[in-house]
Amino acid sequence: MSGSLTIAGLGPGADDLITPQVADALAEATDVVGYIPYVARIAPRLGLTLHSSDNRVELDRARHALEMASKGHRVVVVSSGDPGVFAMASAVFEAVEAGPPHWRALNIQVLPGITAMLAAAARVGAPLGHDFCAINLSDNLKPWALIEKRLRLAAEADFAMAFYNPRSRARPEGFARALDILNETCGDTRPVIFARAVSTVDETVRIVTLPEARPDMADMRTMVLVGSAATRLIPRTGTAFVYTPRSVSV
Ligand code: SAH
Repeated sequence: MSGSLTIAGLGPGADDLITPQVADALAEATDVVGYIPYVARIAPRLGLTLHSSDNRVELDRARHALEMASKGHRVVVVSSGDPGVFAMASAVFEAVEAGPPHWRALNIQVLPGITAMLAAAARVGAPLGHDFCAINLSDNLKPWALIEKRLRLAAEADFAMAFYNPRSRARPEGFARALDILNETCGDTRPVIFARAVSTVDETVRIVTLPEARPDMADMRTMVLVGSAATRLIPRTGTAFVYTPRSVSV
């Protein structure tokens, strides 16, 4: 039997935001590998072994998945959102590059998912409708000085911004620092969106201005979207619409 390794994105939380391709791969899997809360989203069934592990062991998990695939298993590695966005796909390719040559011959494919920033943006309108960037605010895998540099340059370039992992457990003061930098660099009242647990039963969405944004408005289940200077807010009864126009005038 020829094995395979599929790296799949489960979307932001709701079952109907899982793509049919991912659902098919899960239905055919012999083994599902991933971080505990993501594997918990997979229904157990006969013939399927679930392997969940802690978040800090991404490379070990990737190697384990590759070993099982080379023994003939149909392995699906799951991430939330999209597997290529701050998630397992890179860890698998890092393991492949450093691993034994036969891993390169394996049938490996990446199946995209709906990433959190797109699910969050859709809730309020189109805040990412013009140029934007995505930054992971966790300093687990990079120095904080690099995050600061990217924040300043992104603000200077007037990108809208999407922040993943806004509050890292190891460094809770980081997000406060990020907000200070944005206030200094932008100096205006552009909209900031705090979208928590989007598409789950715990979902909350809050829109504030940049000076009103407070560190405790975000946690590890929150996506923070910061508008560009051109981002507009349309007030109405209920949650306002936020959008960034398609064009910038010269
Ligand atoms: N691969 C994932 C991101 C992993 S990083 C993706 O593409 O979405 C984890 C971060 O994603 C969290 O700290 C949070 O900032 C964000 N996130 C994931 N799911 C979310 C959801 N349902 N609602 C809001 N933010 C979410």
